[in-house]
Amino acid sequence: MGSVPLKVSHQHIHARYIVFDKDGTLIDFHKIWGPRLVRGALKLKDICALDNNFLDHLYRALGYDPQTGQTFGQGPLATAPLHQFATIVASVLFQFGLNWDEACQLTKSHMSPEMTAAPSDDEIIARGNVRSAFEALSNAGCLLGIATTDNRAATESAIARLGIGGLLLDIRCGDDNGPVKPDIAVLLELAASRSLPLSELIMVGDTVSDLAMAKDAGVGLSVGILGGAGSESQLRPYADVLIESVEEITPTELG
Ligand SMILES: [Mg+2]
Repeated sequence: MGSVPLKVSHQHIHARYIVFDKDGTLIDFHKIWGPRLVRGALKLKDICALDNNFLDHLYRALGYDPQTGQTFGQGPLATAPLHQFATIVASVLFQFGLNWDEACQLTKSHMSPEMTAAPSDDEIIARGNVRSAFEALSNAGCLLGIATTDNRAATESAIARLGIGGLLLDIRCGDDNGPVKPDIAVLLELAASRSLPLSELIMVGDTVSDLAMAKDAGVGLSVGILGGAGSESQLRPYADVLIESVEEITPTELG
C-alpha cells in the first residue's frame, strides 16, 4: 500500500507512518509528572531531614514550577529518560550534603518508584478521542507508532488504558536497548523497518526535543501539539503545523 492522503489541521500531506510521542501528546502531561515528582521530593525531604531550599533546588534542576504546577518544556522532567532524571535527583541530594552512593540509593528507593509506578486511572487522561482517531488512521492504511522517553512498563499500561495496543506497529521506550529519543536513529529505524523514505513519516510531539529530532531526521511533517509541556512560542520554530489534539490528523477521502 502506498502513501495515505491526510489532513493535519489545515495542511494536506501524503504519508505512510505516523510516530507519536506519548506524554503531553496522547495523554495529559501535567496530570501525571508534576504530582509524581512532588510526592517523591517530599519523601526525600523528610527522610533526609532537609528544608524547603532542597525542594526549590530540586524543582529548578528538573524544570518544574511548583507555584503553577507547570513543567518547563525543554527541561529534564519533560524530556529526559529516567536514568538521566535519577542522576539529577542524586546530584541535588549530593549538593545538600549526602554522600554520592547514599544519594543514588535514596533516589532509587524513594523517587524512582514514584516515577515508574504503574499509572493509575486518574493519571491517564487521554488528550481527546485518541482511540477513534487512531482507528480512522489505521483503517485508511496508516502505520502508527509511539516513541517516548518513558519506560516500557508505564508506556504499555498507558497504551492499554487508551485501547490502542492493537493499532500500533512499533513502540520505542526510554529504557530500551538501542537508540532513545531524541536520537534521530529512532525515526531512521522506524522508517527503515518498513523500507520507507523519511519523507513518508510524520512526527507528532509536544516538546522541542521531539520536533527538533523530527526536523533533523528529515521527516515529511513535524507536528507540534499544544497544551502539553512545550509552549506555542517554543514549538512554533520547529513545527510545520501546530494542532490542539491528535483528532486533527485525519485521512482525507480519496477522490
Ligand atoms: Mg511529550
